Amino acid sequence: MAGAVAIITGAADGIGWATARRMARDGARVVLVDLREDAVRGRASELGPEHAWQRADVTAEADVEAAVAATTTRFGRIDILVNNAGISDQSAPTVEQSTEAFDRILAVHVRGTFLFSRAVAKVMLAQGGGAIVNLGSIAGIAGIPGRNAYGAGKAGIMSMTRSMACEWARKGLRVNAIAPGYVRTALVEDLERRGTIDTARMAARTPMGRLATPDEIANVIAFLASPQASFITGATLNVDGGWMALAASEMPA
Ligand code: NAD
Repeated sequence: MAGAVAIITGAADGIGWATARRMARDGARVVLVDLREDAVRGRASELGPEHAWQRADVTAEADVEAAVAATTTRFGRIDILVNNAGISDQSAPTVEQSTEAFDRILAVHVRGTFLFSRAVAKVMLAQGGGAIVNLGSIAGIAGIPGRNAYGAGKAGIMSMTRSMACEWARKGLRVNAIAPGYVRTALVEDLERRGTIDTARMAARTPMGRLATPDEIANVIAFLASPQASFITGATLNVDGGWMALAASEMPA
């Protein structure tokens, strides 16, 4: 990864920030993108002057195009894109959910991943290759009551991963996704605070008996983005401590 240029969306916190640190440690020049300007500026300065930041809302086409243009102006190329920006779902039952929140959640996940992939792929195709890693979720594979837009958004991301992977496979561009289980980040702590999830029960339902750390997710993203994964494209890799492998209602004592 030495010298590679990597754009990571939602890089101010959680999995995105862990991925930024991991890729910077591996020698990449990282462009941290986030909606929260102060937070992302602070993170970029923690990483050092060879890295960059951009404030962008991944749902806003003009923001996305500007962030990609600024990256090519400064670094001349883009080797890696991590579509990580995400938000959690409404905590109300389906019959009480708002249309506006539904649209926003889908937009951040599906439209955001589409807009950034389209803009970055133009650069990658012109330079002859690159790697995109998308954030799916176990919530896009199996159902979680009430998490309508989030689950549909993650399923949409995993579907686009396959479509784009096939479209660009002979042009040197790989596209993969990961489907994390529960990871201890601000997003999960927010759900816990709102009473939407109980992390102790999540850990008990996970065959490995615990939640993931953001670094464990970042390691897999870095692998899929690296030349070590040169024959992997269109895949979604579960990174869930065995969650999707369990069909029993609970782990035996
Ligand atoms: P987080 O809330 O800790 O961080 C998400 C970051 O995305 C924040 O810095 C936020 O400001 C940014 N963001 C939100 N909306 C944005 C927008 N419109 N434009 C730009 N930036 C925006 O979340 P996390 O837990 O690190 O999750 C990262 C990704 O991993 C998300 O896509 C999430 O759905 C996915 N994921 C998380 C878990 C988990 O258990 N935490 C599990 C599966 C998948």
